[in-house]
Amino acid sequence: MKVTFLGTGTSQGVPVIGCTCDVCRSLDFRDKRLRTSVAIESHGNSFIVDTGPDFRQQMLREQVKRVDAVIFTHAHRDHTAGLDDVRAYNFMQNMDMPVYGTQPVLEQLKTEYAYAFAEVYYPGIPRLTLREINDSKFTINNVDITPLPVMHLKLPVLGFRIKNFSYITDANFIPEETYERLQGTEILVLNALQREKHISHFNFEEAIAVAMRVQAKRTYFTHISHKLGLHAEVSAELPDNFHLAYDGLQITC
Ligand SMILES: [Zn+2]
Ligand SMILES: [Zn+2]
Ligand SMILES: [Zn+2]
Repeated sequence: MKVTFLGTGTSQGVPVIGCTCDVCRSLDFRDKRLRTSVAIESHGNSFIVDTGPDFRQQMLREQVKRVDAVIFTHAHRDHTAGLDDVRAYNFMQNMDMPVYGTQPVLEQLKTEYAYAFAEVYYPGIPRLTLREINDSKFTINNVDITPLPVMHLKLPVLGFRIKNFSYITDANFIPEETYERLQGTEILVLNALQREKHISHFNFEEAIAVAMRVQAKRTYFTHISHKLGLHAEVSAELPDNFHLAYDGLQITC
């Protein structure tokens, strides 16, 4: 299995428009963060988790030739705004794109992309097949996926575990049942927004505490704000086997 970090930035991305802080002016490529998303290759399948506003650019950068399904964690715009561009894969693969999400997520997509669900078909619009999921395990083309329910302030969000890889973005609370689902995971990806406390995301300290409890062999932080600090400096502070993810990072597991 191979995972590519397509984007590791919070909702505004890094650099932030108009900001002149050290991080936003950094020349280190690891300080340039598109909106959070990953590509997962497993058993010959190519899955994308979330299609944020940078989806098109991410697909071009990583030269993704095929997408078998899009899986959504939740329906905030920084995770959904690029969905229209799956059209490219509709054309190339000559198939509708399977889109997985909870019922509220699919409802939100139907509102945001109403033209894609209109009675009268307009040629060239994205062709989406919505597939509802909940907290129970599901399978896409022989790949078993375990949802990891977490809370993002008051919004239920799903993380996903495939074998020993677990991915959680946009959370500030993990229920006990989800800690049980995380047992034995070798790789944990978790959101770590900034140093200050935040109402809907784990901050740096909280993310380290959660990851210490999960005890994965390797932990990668994502959904990072310019307020967290320079990649090189923050990385140097991290405990062993903890890393800040960066755009383009690939891991095999
Ligand atoms: Zn987000
Ligand atoms: Zn900045
Ligand atoms: Zn969110």
